[in-house]
Amino acid sequence: MQDRIEIMSLLPEQLAAEVKAMGEPAFRAKQIFRWLHVRRVFDFAEMTDISKQCQGRLQERFCINPPKIAQKLASTLDDTVKYLCTLSDGNCVETVRMVYHHGVTACISTQVGCRMGCRFCASAPLGHIRNLTPAEMLGQIYAADADYPEDQRISGVVLMGIGEPLDNYENVIQFLRLLSCSEGRNLSLRHAALSTCGVVPGILRLAGEDFPLTLSVSLHAADDDTRSSLMPVNWKYPIAELLSACRHYFEKTGRRVTFEYAVIAGKNDSDEAAEKLGRLLRPIFPQQRPHVNLIPVNPVADTGFSAGSALQFQKKLERQGINATVRRTLGADIAAACGQLRRNQMRHQAEGGEQH
Ligand code: SAH
Repeated sequence: MQDRIEIMSLLPEQLAAEVKAMGEPAFRAKQIFRWLHVRRVFDFAEMTDISKQCQGRLQERFCINPPKIAQKLASTLDDTVKYLCTLSDGNCVETVRMVYHHGVTACISTQVGCRMGCRFCASAPLGHIRNLTPAEMLGQIYAADADYPEDQRISGVVLMGIGEPLDNYENVIQFLRLLSCSEGRNLSLRHAALSTCGVVPGILRLAGEDFPLTLSVSLHAADDDTRSSLMPVNWKYPIAELLSACRHYFEKTGRRVTFEYAVIAGKNDSDEAAEKLGRLLRPIFPQQRPHVNLIPVNPVADTGFSAGSALQFQKKLERQGINATVRRTLGADIAAACGQLRRNQMRHQAEGGEQH
């Protein structure tokens, strides 16, 4: 069973090659792709224009295991919904569905856990368990789509949930190809963003893919000492290298690079930090004001960080010629900060509670 191919991870041409190798006519792959990605039927037995015999052979060769919604939390403050999705091996990840004026955005996870070790993050202490497959990333979107009427489908995607997308490079790229493929979900990557803690080789490689994808960099500090104390990745790829990779990304793709900055009281919110950030960011993109998304750090149990004033820091940055927005803290009441639902669930299991 283990070595069956996960069919939802295959692009149309790859599926065509697999199906051809089974001796099936070329149109068969098109039919199957449509069942999976357009009609969202995840059982070969329900693919009614395919013979029973062929269904059986598909079943032997391929598996379809979309993530299932195990728990759903709806905010009472806004329309944000957070899902805990169970994967076929029992692991779970989080997916958030957020409603903006311009559409509905899904924030999806790319790994079970994370190995980057950011000090303020709820996922870091739990470590990295495994990478998600392209099908599991796409499946989070399909699950959220299925939970709402057709006219409220996901129109934007951010890779900003659990995991470091550039630490699961190949699968993330395959997922982006599937997401944007015209025979399938057909979502333009102009409406997608990838968030990274700063894995420089991954950024450089991504620049070469030529996707119209927004790159979002979790900066969180304006000097190497502070950044390394918050984000171990900075020891390997310090700020100067990271920003030069960002400039390369912009030059190569013409797409914006935005910066995430979690405001932490007493750590990165001083006047001096704002000045340093101004000095760093002003020269990077000529003819474009750099854009920083501020978010008051979400206090995670045991990390000891508390939120600084994002509004005050925004004013400080604006005096430095930096555009800064305070990210709407959507779903604040359901802990929309990534990783916290999974963390609670794992703690619950560890304490001998029942799995949901
Ligand atoms: N690994 C990627 C994407 C996942 S994290 C990255 O680092 O960008 C998504 C965003 O949430 C990142 O900007 C991350 O730094 C931020 N984040 C994580 N924990 C947080 C917390 N407790 N408060 C505020 N932002 C947090």
